[in-house]
Parts: sequence; structure tokens; C-alpha cells
Amino acid sequence: LTAAELAAVRADFPLLGRTVRGGRPLVYLDSAATSQKPNVVLEAEVDFYEQRNAAVHRGAHQVAEEATAAFEDARSAVASFVGAADDEIVWTPGATAAINLVAYALGNATAGRGGADAERFRLAPGDEIVVTEAEHHANLVPWQELCARTGAVLRWFGVDDDGRLDLSDVGSVITERTRVVAFGHVSNVTGAVAPVETLVAAAREVGAYTVLDACQSVPHLPVDLHALGVDFAAFSAHKMLGPTGVGALYGRRELLEALPPVTTGGSMVEVVTMTETTYMPPPQRFEAGTQMVAQAVGMGVAAQWLDELGMGRVAAHEREIAAELLKITEIPGIRVIGPSDDRDRIGVVSFVVDGVHAHDVSQVLDDRGIAVRVGHHCAQPLHRRFGVAATARASASVYTGVEDVVAFREALAGVRAFFGAE
Ligand code: PMP
Repeated sequence: LTAAELAAVRADFPLLGRTVRGGRPLVYLDSAATSQKPNVVLEAEVDFYEQRNAAVHRGAHQVAEEATAAFEDARSAVASFVGAADDEIVWTPGATAAINLVAYALGNATAGRGGADAERFRLAPGDEIVVTEAEHHANLVPWQELCARTGAVLRWFGVDDDGRLDLSDVGSVITERTRVVAFGHVSNVTGAVAPVETLVAAAREVGAYTVLDACQSVPHLPVDLHALGVDFAAFSAHKMLGPTGVGALYGRRELLEALPPVTTGGSMVEVVTMTETTYMPPPQRFEAGTQMVAQAVGMGVAAQWLDELGMGRVAAHEREIAAELLKITEIPGIRVIGPSDDRDRIGVVSFVVDGVHAHDVSQVLDDRGIAVRVGHHCAQPLHRRFGVAATARASASVYTGVEDVVAFREALAGVRAFFGAE
């Protein structure tokens, strides 16, 4: 993005204009936790409530028809944004809910629920589910739970010293016993991009299903789920400039058709008697209850906004910002957890400062108006792997400018002296 383009982008995000800590301009470097929202997204939600608010797929009146059209148009926008067909996108409250949906549906198949075809998903004691040591808890704990319910065994790929997945012996981890391979596209701690092709090819060879946690890739890189060839994927609106409370599960159509539902009730049924029920086809089969319509509409608008800017340009801009962030390695006493080069990574940089606790680091930055995240970022095993309990994390989005990073680096350079750690 040119300076003028970036200025125009930033002007579209009202929150970026506010001040904090006694009048300091906000330097927002916490977009991996949640992104800020452009005006079009905020206006789309207000407009929905002001003009089109009604329950979808039910009412036989004009406002309900318009609400349903807006809801389904949003689904199309999100689907085309990630290279999926419309009916392969299931609305969920977020990525966590989407991953849990898959894990619970597989458990239901094991319990004998669903159509005859659900047999193909059945997990038995001794079957294996493969994850990685870099996972966000949202893509780890649901699989631990599924193992506990089915007797399946959890296995995982480790991480090398550079924060990249250690795939030196793929064939010993993904084997004939593997039924599911679940992994993050981009780590929310290291920013490293996983080699999706390698993992999908290995999973396919043994007939295992792939589940991609695309939370940190969809907002920052062009993502084409059909081209990647994964079976399922999960992502959240709030990290891609959209509202909280909505996200999506992608599932290959024939898999969603065979998968049993998890949440049951209204809006997902065809015929209900006092003893039996038949279910609607996907995606409605997985969308019981009154849907988060305004939020879905906001997510659709966010996807369109990014699409119009062009994800290739978004990725190129953020690559520049990532390189600027990585210059913190030149500050004495800073250790980056993750790749120190800017190849196959995004603008998420987690680090520790020698002799200073991560919480103290973030406090010094916060005093200067710089917002970073601190803690284990919902990835305790990965932090344990690097022998640290907590890191501070600076993360970028399309609206992040070089000036943000310069302010951050300057503040960070003074941290060790401030705490007498030099
Ligand atoms: N996976 C990754 C990689 C994430 O970064 C996050 C959010 N921090 C999640 C999953 C969970 O997303 P949500 O909280 O929106 O459900």
C-alpha cells in the first residue's frame, strides 16, 4: 500500500483515531487477538437492525425475506472469499465453536448418530488423531476431549527451535491408524505458516480427515480452501475486521452431508414427530436456533472489504510490517519465539526480554499508548516447548503502519534500562 492508500485505510477505522493513557495516540499492535472494524462493517450491522431485522428462513413477510437475503448473501461473500461453495459454509459463533462442532459431530458418528454414511467417521480405541505442539488451545482441547470420549489416541508433531513444525518424519506420526489431522494454518504465537500441502498429502494417503485452523491465515493471506484441499476449516470474523460472535466452519460438501448434527432444535429440521426427526441438508443442519444474522452480515461485508482491497496487496503490506517488527531482534536482550526471518510468516511476533517479565514489558509499552498482548496466548504447550511461561506479542493487520512499529521499537529499546536489567 502507498502512504496515501494506508492513510485512507486507517481513516476507515474509527477506533484507531482514539487516544489512550492521557492523550497518547493509540498504537494498536494486538490484531492477532482481535482486529479493529472499518466503518462499512459497523454501518452494515446498524443498517441491518434499522432496516432488515427479522428472523431468517421463517417469516413470510417482506422484512424477513430481506433479512434472509442479507444473511445468505453474506454466506456467499464469505464462501467466495475463502474459495468455497456457499453451502460449504456453516455459520458458527467463532472458530472455537467451529472446531468443537467437527469434534462433537465425529463423536456423534462414533455413538451411532446420523445417517448410514456416518459410519465412515467412526473412531475406535486405538485410532489416532494428530495435532501439533503449536496449536491454539481451541485446536487442541476439543481433540483431547474427543480422544477421551472415543478411546482414540492423540499424537502430535513437535516444533523446532525456529518455531516451525518439525516434519522430518511425517510418516511416523501420520500412519494407517490416523483418522484426523488437525493443525493451524498460521501460528498465533510464532506467525509461522504451516506447510499445508505436505500435511494434506500425508493425511490423504492414509484416508485421514484434515481440519485446518485458519483463524490467523484468512485475515492476512489469500486463502483458497478448495485449492488447499482440506476437509474442514475454521475461522472467526472478529480477527478479519468483522464483528465478534460469528465465524465459520468450512466443510467439503459431501462430508457435511454425511456428518451428524451436534446442536439440535429449530431451524435445522424437516419433519418432526413425537419420536423422530429428519434433518435439513447442510449448512442448515448445523445451524439450529435463531442465527446471529446482523453479525453474519457484518462478516460478509468485512470479507468484501478485504476482497476489494485485494488479499495479495494485504499480504504484501503485512509482509513489510512483519519485517519492521522483526527488527526488534537488533535490540540487545530481546529473543523472538518463532522464525527470525520473514519467509513464510505473517506479522505476528512474540518475544521475551531478558530479565524483565512479559507483563512488565507490556505495562511499559501500555504507558506509551502501545497495545500488545501478553501471556501464553492460549498456547501453553508451545510456550513450555520454549521454556517460557509468557511472552509479549505484537501483531499487525492491514491498517498497521511502519510508524506504529517504529514507536513500538523505540519504546521496547528502553524497557531493559527502565527495569535496570542492562
Ligand atoms: N485458533 C487460533 C490460531 C487463534 O488465534 C484463535 C483466537 N485467538 C482461535 C483459534 C480461537 O478463535 P475464537 O476465539 O475466535 O473462537
